[in-house]
Amino acid sequence: MIPTVKLNNGVEMPQLGFGVFQVPETETTAAVTTALESGYRSIDTAAVYQNEAGVGKALASSGIAREELFITTKLWNADQGYEETLAGFEHSRGLLGLDYLDLYLIHWPAPELGKYADSWRALEKLSADGVVRAIGVSNFQPAHLKQLAAASSVVPAVNQVELHPYLVQAEVRAYGNEHGIATEAWSPLAKGGSLLTETAVTELAAKYDRSPAQVILRWHLQLGNIVIPKSVTPARVRENFAVFDFSLTSDDLASLDALDRGERTGPDPDTFNVA
Ligand code: NDP
Repeated sequence: MIPTVKLNNGVEMPQLGFGVFQVPETETTAAVTTALESGYRSIDTAAVYQNEAGVGKALASSGIAREELFITTKLWNADQGYEETLAGFEHSRGLLGLDYLDLYLIHWPAPELGKYADSWRALEKLSADGVVRAIGVSNFQPAHLKQLAAASSVVPAVNQVELHPYLVQAEVRAYGNEHGIATEAWSPLAKGGSLLTETAVTELAAKYDRSPAQVILRWHLQLGNIVIPKSVTPARVRENFAVFDFSLTSDDLASLDALDRGERTGPDPDTFNVA
């Protein structure tokens, strides 16, 4: 049973999902099928990943009831703006082959474009029309969230940000906690790089007879983050799901918190304006 996080509109979102960034369209159906067979029910894609149709094929052939699935996609920067957002949503929904989405996110604030408040109004309309169950943002810093709050009374249900022990995002998480915005961690394993061989991580892996990735995913879950690891390796897909039968102590969690060095693997949201 996957724990859920109750979003600010009452919708329950699985705390663990499966991400498909950089999975080529031709491999996406197989990867998502493996994830669904392993027990994942939440899938995270985006228009810019160009694999929404591959996700849709896996969903259609899975035989899993629609209401058991939780599907997220994201609006690309080039599609920001009110009318463009409505069109971008329709395009994604068509590729996914779904009647409704569970979560739709503005992918980046792209502050230089100056359009995220207009895009947000379109997300509010999609929500009011019932074609998406929850709406949120991604890569929003507190300053962007404050600006959005000044323009709209609808609070994002989710903010999906880069987050892992090298980048613990204390301010973003505190802002979310204070305002009822669930924090979702992208690149939760810091892209499978040197984090997995950090002594603090491998010591805990040995202590619990678990893999480094499982230890890091436990850290996220116990912090309350929603988490969406990606893998195209079936054994890792299953391994990343087997994280509900052990727990870390508060000292263990603190030893992972101490790895924070404010280091991003991806772009800085304040300056990323690519459209
Ligand atoms: P992750 O932190 O999930 O790491 C993925 C990498 O780690 C892959 O190279 C994978 O290898 C490897 N890996 C996965 N599991 C294990 C394991 N158990 N042991 C060892 N290595 C492992 O990075 P992502 O950047 O993919 O982030 C996850 C998801 O977050 C994305 O897929 C996407 O859905 C979302 N995302 C959102 C962004 C946004 O701007 N909103 C930006 C970036 C990501 P392999 O696949 O070869 O097995």
